[in-house]
Amino acid sequence: MENNYLPYPAQILKVVKENSQIKTFELAFTDQDRNSSFTYLPGQFMMVSVPHRGEAPISIASTPTRPGMIELSIRRAGTLTNAMHTMKAGDTLGLRGPYGRPFPLKEFTGRDLVFVAGGIGLAPLRSLINYCLDHHNEYGQITLLYGSRSPEDIAFSDDLTAWQDTHSIKCLLSVDSAGPDWHGQVGLVTTLLDLITPDPARSSAIVCGPSIMIRFVLAALSRIGFADTDIITTLERHMKCGIGVCRHCHMDRTLVCADGPVFSLAQLRGMQGTELL
Ligand SMILES: Cc1cc2nc3c(=O)[nH]c(=O)nc-3n(C[C@H](O)[C@H](O)[C@H](O)COP(=O)(O)OP(=O)(O)OC[C@H]3O[C@@H](n4cnc5c(N)ncnc54)[C@H](O)[C@@H]3O)c2cc1C
Repeated sequence: MENNYLPYPAQILKVVKENSQIKTFELAFTDQDRNSSFTYLPGQFMMVSVPHRGEAPISIASTPTRPGMIELSIRRAGTLTNAMHTMKAGDTLGLRGPYGRPFPLKEFTGRDLVFVAGGIGLAPLRSLINYCLDHHNEYGQITLLYGSRSPEDIAFSDDLTAWQDTHSIKCLLSVDSAGPDWHGQVGLVTTLLDLITPDPARSSAIVCGPSIMIRFVLAALSRIGFADTDIITTLERHMKCGIGVCRHCHMDRTLVCADGPVFSLAQLRGMQGTELL
């Protein structure tokens, strides 16, 4: 019987510095069989561990349509994530998962998709965006609105450049504040919603970022006319087990690790205690 709490060793293949706080780690299980049989869906997360440093949930930032490795984008927050930022290619850490409910991919079929991300929130959306681009015949127009604190805080520049170069996705960026060298949009990410004209009847919105951002974006999307069932977001809670046993991440009667972390606004409206409404 497989032990659900057992992390499997994975080696860091490559580290990409996204900005001063975020690094993307390309990883592969050291066991080749596990690596080649590993499957997941966008929106799921891994429990990542470093001996003597702890364990934390981290969204999978890669897409299963590009198999053979797992990418995790990690922002320095505390003990574990600081330790990870000192690690380099060749180092080993522990991974267990994938866990959590993925984005509702079937519901997105045939629809325009509006992604709204803030900061590290682009990590799980990157998985879904690349998944959709690899199945581009199944989706309508894809738009990304991405907000960062300043031009220096913009992460995932390689992806943004690749997406813009292929014209496969319309990318609009904004920064909260900037010096004179920045010629792009200045303002909260919600200001970008004023620059696009999605048809709410044929679009789904997928939102991820800091709680305060999500709160304002959900309200703006509702005002534009998006149905609660067509607005999808993720909840972040401190988790211990990741598999619905310890109940550390419970909200109302919901466990964020097992019932989420992906929820529609319709589901959130039925839950008490969410900071997003
Ligand atoms: C589903 C999910 C997906 C995530 N995906 C990502 C991702 O892709 N990338 C990423 O960078 N982060 C992600 N996170 C957040 C990440 O898990 C946390 O930032 C991480 O737990 C920090 O671990 P740490 O050991 O470095 O920090 P810690 O040392 O745990 O501390 C970080 C901060 O959190 C506070 N804190 C710690 N434990 C608790 C607690 N129990 N209750 C309240 N506050 C507490 C600390 O006081 C400190 O301020 C995700 C979280 C969830 C739930």
